[in-house]
Amino acid sequence: MSNFIRLGDDVRKRPMKPKYKRILLKLSGEALLGDREYGVDTAVSVRIAKEIKEIVDIGVQVAIVIGGGNIFRGYAASENGMDRATADYMGMLATCMNALALQDALEKIGVENRVMSSIDMHQIAEPYIRRKAVSHLEKGRVVILAAGSGHPYFTTDTTAVLRALELHAEIVLKATKVDGIYDRHPKEEGAKLYSILTFSEALRKELRVMDATALALCKENDLQILVFNMLKDNNIQKAVMGEKIGTVVRTKLVS
Ligand code: UDP
Repeated sequence: MSNFIRLGDDVRKRPMKPKYKRILLKLSGEALLGDREYGVDTAVSVRIAKEIKEIVDIGVQVAIVIGGGNIFRGYAASENGMDRATADYMGMLATCMNALALQDALEKIGVENRVMSSIDMHQIAEPYIRRKAVSHLEKGRVVILAAGSGHPYFTTDTTAVLRALELHAEIVLKATKVDGIYDRHPKEEGAKLYSILTFSEALRKELRVMDATALALCKENDLQILVFNMLKDNNIQKAVMGEKIGTVVRTKLVS
């Protein structure tokens, strides 16, 4: 895509200026599922890679934390009798598979990137070193962060917030399958979509935005989240341009 905004048939020669310079994109494992019940739909990872390319091309620095729920979830396995820590390590390994799938899709369309893992696996990923990650971002490389935080009992949502803070990302973009955060299940009749929420409200109302650890970390450090629909074309680009999509969660309603 060229560096100009296309509005209908009218191409205005207006350079695109993103609202954010550095973002942390949280992709759940489910984002890679497509219509499958398990694993990775290659066509979907290619589509996501193309959307990422569009924002890289306009100068946005992109770090991605990828989940593993399409392959393995530690908590679910521990409910079935497996040791929780072991199950969580398996979950973290699942995120590494997704990271490689996304790396492949990005590479195919010429987007320079690095996979960095919180669990050492030198043959396939660099170890996660904060300063190295920042250096990659500054060089315009997409950084794919694999293996969650490297610690059991955490989630990739909490990892996303942690890495966003460490890497000084301005916002966490949380990609989901619905338009944002609703006051009840999105499919229930009369469900209302919030355009903005505070962390306190989200925690108090137990809205399913992110787990409580992730939300508390955001709240304490005043890091905003945008929850948006990944299934709609160009939404990543709209989010970085500051268009009003999805639900913003931040410390105060007015800035
Ligand atoms: N996980 C973990 N520590 C972390 C991040 C992830 O133990 O820091 C494990 C946990 O078992 C989790 C699995 O990895 O269920 C996959 O991550 P998550 O459920 O967050 O993926 P998503 O729902 O985003 O696909």
